[in-house]
Amino acid sequence: CFCQLYGTIDECSCNIDTVDHFNNVRVYPRLKSLLLKDYFRFYKVNLKRPCPFWSDDSKCAMKDCHVQTCPPEEIPEGLKGQRRPSVSAGPSQKYSKRTNEDCETHHNDLDYLNKTISEKVQKDMQMWEAYDDATDNFCVLDENDQEAEYVDLLLNPERYTGYSGESAHRVWTSIYLENCFRPKKSFSFNSYIQSHKLNELCLEERVFYRSVSGLHASINTHLCADYLLGNGNGFALGKTKWGPNLEEFRRRFSPETTNGEGPNWLRNLYFIYLVELRALAKAAPYLEREEFYTGDESNDWDTQMAVKDLLNVIKSFGDHFDETTMFGDTEQAVKLKQEFRQHFRNITRIMDCVGCDKCRLWGKLQTNGLGTALKILFSGKFDRLIDNRSLDSLNKKEFQLQRSEIVSLINAFGRLSNSIYKLDDFRQMMR
Ligand code: FAD
Repeated sequence: CFCQLYGTIDECSCNIDTVDHFNNVRVYPRLKSLLLKDYFRFYKVNLKRPCPFWSDDSKCAMKDCHVQTCPPEEIPEGLKGQRRPSVSAGPSQKYSKRTNEDCETHHNDLDYLNKTISEKVQKDMQMWEAYDDATDNFCVLDENDQEAEYVDLLLNPERYTGYSGESAHRVWTSIYLENCFRPKKSFSFNSYIQSHKLNELCLEERVFYRSVSGLHASINTHLCADYLLGNGNGFALGKTKWGPNLEEFRRRFSPETTNGEGPNWLRNLYFIYLVELRALAKAAPYLEREEFYTGDESNDWDTQMAVKDLLNVIKSFGDHFDETTMFGDTEQAVKLKQEFRQHFRNITRIMDCVGCDKCRLWGKLQTNGLGTALKILFSGKFDRLIDNRSLDSLNKKEFQLQRSEIVSLINAFGRLSNSIYKLDDFRQMMR
């Protein structure tokens, strides 16, 4: 079977069959139950933002592209406030509280002036905080977007939608074009895509390409594993049957139909899995202390325990992707890192050009999850956690991830884990 892969995963120190066993037996069952929890189930996203790169795209009208959003009353109370207030007293809240207390002793006439000044300072602080976050972020987040709405991911599963043709190809091509960091002598993107002259690229560019290709392979594996097998004739009225489609899988990944590339794309799926796994292991000390606050105490406790259990399993596997080999500290390397971040941010913006809402939802979630993993690995903010396990002595704000970053990180990793699990199903079907 072409999907029975062997050997070491490129740029990593781990074999394919080791990952298969680790994922299918230890990680996948844990993630499957964790992702049912309320904290991870509701994702805030703006699916209405116009495409910033081209405008002539028509929206997919197919029923399977539709996303059902949640009315506010169905969202757990704790999620709407994002964090328990006592935990999240960020600088801006603290500042306004202190100003109000100070003002009590002042003459009433001064109140208006004080308030105006404090609002201005507060605004400036918020602006700088947003700026600081943006310079570290590898993605453009929707969390604070006024138009963002909550979506129940369990009611809108990622699966075959029928989205294809020019629109889908334009999005994938634009995403791969982001890998062209600098114009190279005699470098043609088409030849690179076709023949994958990866040896012409530097390590950082190869990592970028493999991550995107692994994500692409994962999305396409899902649509083959949860394919529309039929409705109407032969099925109970109104019932739709979903399941694996081996032919579709073969068409997308066999060497005969992909110019020999299919198995490489599947190998890239294992690569991105190890990248996100490493990010989770690196952020484990931080995630182990997260409250996963939804407002329901017993539910939140269960979620904390389930996350700790998953992180223990992840840590026991060891690190197989070494991010410290990337981006040295020369002036050129610093510039390359900035470019890397900017190009990845562009990919998250390209998601607003996906013409099918369901694909856009899962595309945003998975690129934001990968962006969060890259932030953990490369922003430098999480490096000290390895040396200093005591977060108490550090500035907690420095390590804060927004809820949507945590939700997308764990869900994105859940999708990769699911793809590797489904790959095994396809192997067995082929046998
Ligand atoms: P495509 O998958 O569109 O690929 C285009 C070309 O890229 C291929 O011809 C090949 O040369 C190359 N290629 C393919 N795979 C890889 C890889 N892994 N690495 C490198 N190069 C590769 N459809 C659904 O049914 N459900 C979804 O949830 C869904 N989500 C999507 C999310 C996004 C962000 C996008 C852009 C598309 C999504 N689609 C989804 C559409 C789906 O990915 C395909 O684009 C579509 O099915 C058409 O497939 P295709 O065979 O024409 O090749």
